[in-house]
Amino acid sequence: SEPLLEVDDLEKYFPVKSGIIKRTSDYVKAVDGVSFDIERGETLALIGESGSGKSTVARTIIGLTGATGGTVRFDGEDITNATDEQLARLRSRVQMVFQDPTSSLNPRRTIGKSLAVPLKARGVATSDLRERVVDLLERVELNDEYWNKYPHELSGGQKQRVNIARALAVEPELLLLDEPTSALDVSVQAKIIALLEDLQEEFGLTYLFITHDLSLVRNFADETAVMYLGEIQERGPTEEVFQRPRHPYSRALLSAIPVTTDEEEAYKPRHEPLRGEIPSPRDVPTGCRFHTRCPYATDACSTDEPQFVAVDAGPSVRCHIYDEAYADAFDDVPEVA
Ligand code: SF4
Ligand code: MG
Repeated sequence: SEPLLEVDDLEKYFPVKSGIIKRTSDYVKAVDGVSFDIERGETLALIGESGSGKSTVARTIIGLTGATGGTVRFDGEDITNATDEQLARLRSRVQMVFQDPTSSLNPRRTIGKSLAVPLKARGVATSDLRERVVDLLERVELNDEYWNKYPHELSGGQKQRVNIARALAVEPELLLLDEPTSALDVSVQAKIIALLEDLQEEFGLTYLFITHDLSLVRNFADETAVMYLGEIQERGPTEEVFQRPRHPYSRALLSAIPVTTDEEEAYKPRHEPLRGEIPSPRDVPTGCRFHTRCPYATDACSTDEPQFVAVDAGPSVRCHIYDEAYADAFDDVPEVA
């Protein structure tokens, strides 16, 4: 079957200044040729440091901002720069959950009212609203006591549950989750992830899960894509990317997360902490855009842009010497079972 979401060579450039734009340096290339598919019922994690363009990918998919180039297809339909009519239909099938659970709720509206709005818009009768709202609250493990509460009476985790409930009100197929847990305490994060997993199983939801926190991804996402300065550097089955990250940037990111089992210890990439700061997206390095921070960089890396190539049947990676760098990092590591 065809993927539910197909993103092909997506570009989003922002002008740096107003007026006539003549040079490429007049643009910020926030998203610069991003491609991935998500199968129905699966989760793709899009990871990377802040400023890598992850949120812009999601905002462009859902039409909050226009695409500069490339295509987005949802369930086979081209929704790139969707018309108002397309967007209206799309909103009942694709929903987004944002990082800050507070700013996405109206402080003067009770939780009951906030959840009733999308239900009413779908034509639910006034007499049925309360029951339907309570259904939604129960889906996110809250109850009818929340009907009359205001957002300021809720914890961050409870507010994010309400935001998820509101997204579910339209019975969407795809959720774009933009750092949905990063404003929450670690213990609450795990509960929200567990909730998302349960909801996915129950309703067959498809997720694009955006995060800078790799520790959330390993047991949650089917596929992982690592983004750096507007480009995906590596993409593949999550367990492959975590056990055998081919790209030096993936390894640097992964080396920072704590290992919890012997198996993880055996596969832990040789420690190569990330050096320096991410360059400004206004000033993307030439050649491989990771070369200013890469321990393997050669002269060619600063002039020649690496292509995105598939490694065997596994991940795809964008690095001139991923095989040598890979061998060097993994020469004393056992084969993947
Ligand atoms: Fe490093 Fe060169 Fe590979 Fe880029 S292409 S990740 S600079 S080795
Ligand atoms: Mg972001």
